[in-house]
Amino acid sequence: MFRALVFFTFLGFAIWGTLILTDYPGLVSLEWRGFRIDTTVAFLLGAVVLISFTTALVYRFWLFLWRTPGTIKGSWQAKRRQRGYQALTRGMVAVAAGDAIEAERQVKRADVLLDEPPLTMLVSAQSAQMKGDEAAASKFFAAMVTRPETEFLGLRGLLNQAIKRGDKVEALSLVRRAHRLQPKSTWVASNMFDLQIRTGQWLDARVTCDDLARTSLIAKDEAKRRKAVLSYQLSLQARDAGDGDGAMRHLRDANKLAPGFIPAVADLAGRWVDGGKARKAVKLIEKAWGAAPHPALLDPYWRAQKAPDALERVRATEKLVKTNPDHPESHIALARAFLEARLWGEARQHLEKVLAEDRDPEARTCRMMAELEESENPSSGLSREWLMRASQAGADAVWTCDHCGNTVGVWSVVCGKCEEFDSFSWRLPPSITGLMDQSQIKSGAQIGFEGSPRDKPQASEGPMILPPGGVEAG
Ligand SMILES: [Zn+2]
Repeated sequence: MFRALVFFTFLGFAIWGTLILTDYPGLVSLEWRGFRIDTTVAFLLGAVVLISFTTALVYRFWLFLWRTPGTIKGSWQAKRRQRGYQALTRGMVAVAAGDAIEAERQVKRADVLLDEPPLTMLVSAQSAQMKGDEAAASKFFAAMVTRPETEFLGLRGLLNQAIKRGDKVEALSLVRRAHRLQPKSTWVASNMFDLQIRTGQWLDARVTCDDLARTSLIAKDEAKRRKAVLSYQLSLQARDAGDGDGAMRHLRDANKLAPGFIPAVADLAGRWVDGGKARKAVKLIEKAWGAAPHPALLDPYWRAQKAPDALERVRATEKLVKTNPDHPESHIALARAFLEARLWGEARQHLEKVLAEDRDPEARTCRMMAELEESENPSSGLSREWLMRASQAGADAVWTCDHCGNTVGVWSVVCGKCEEFDSFSWRLPPSITGLMDQSQIKSGAQIGFEGSPRDKPQASEGPMILPPGGVEAG
């Protein structure tokens, strides 16, 4: 509409100008170096318009000729790039489908068409890995590391390769580099923590724990527990290096972070007793027993209460179990103390309370019953029956790996079998109880049971029943 208006206005002016020029033709004279031209104003204006129009046309034609090769080249390159991206996409699909040969064919095409190595190197490395050619994949990953835009992807590939071949030191160095590039990556942070644990970098792992909690990659309680376990491990390391103060500092840290962590409680209490702080040790152990009784707490408690003989140990144990009087572990502790003090009636009372609550008693309860019968009624034959029942009973509670079922006598930060971190909990080993024939356990619950002992690991009395270093269960 606006254009039409402009056009008609312009046309109107042109007609009006032509009419003016027709009515008043006028004269123009040009004289230059002896030449003379006489013409009308209309002719001169017509000539000027014609020359301008022709010049504009020639200029446009020249521009067209000048730009054409570039335009043709540009469109050819765009088509080529499009084909390159298509080949790359097909290569990625082939990788996802597990077709290594097709992936390699497509990625070679994409490489030629695109001439952009960062885009094709990852697919090349993946197709090499699918063909089992780790060396070739490694070359691609190493090349990716040299370019800033693909450095992280290259590091990730090399790290996975190092983990796969079990080269922990190399993997740790790669994961540290990856962490500097992507400090918020969950994958990097959790791999770094695992590798620090597996290479014994306890202090670094503690720092990583703080990082993981700060970036909300693990819950705060989980971070506290991990740090407590690591502090305990650092205390063991300091003790081995003869650094008593350092060991105490780490132990206090561990106890503050996770008050119910038994290895740290027992160790810290023992050290306080040795350092003349028996009252602190007593308070610490009584609090821990009240929350979760554990046999490893008894020895430091007796030492803290200066109870060297059996009767004094009975008194000390009675005081301790007041914090958790109905717990089976409290009855077992008292029964053990009464047995040692040769107070058979009291020992029987507490053992019967354990037996009333547990129809399939642990081997240690049966052994204590055997000891009691042997001492009180040696001619009854009941002792032999309890011993037989002990051989049929499930194993005693022990530090058991929640991940693989491995059992150890002394708590350990990492499972020696599956390398899992902080996986030991104090409980009955499931694989051993699984071996038990439930019908035999039931019939064995009757005194007078006759049967051959089944194959099972030998267990002895006390909290640490298996040798340190790990006994494979199942
Ligand atoms: Zn394990």
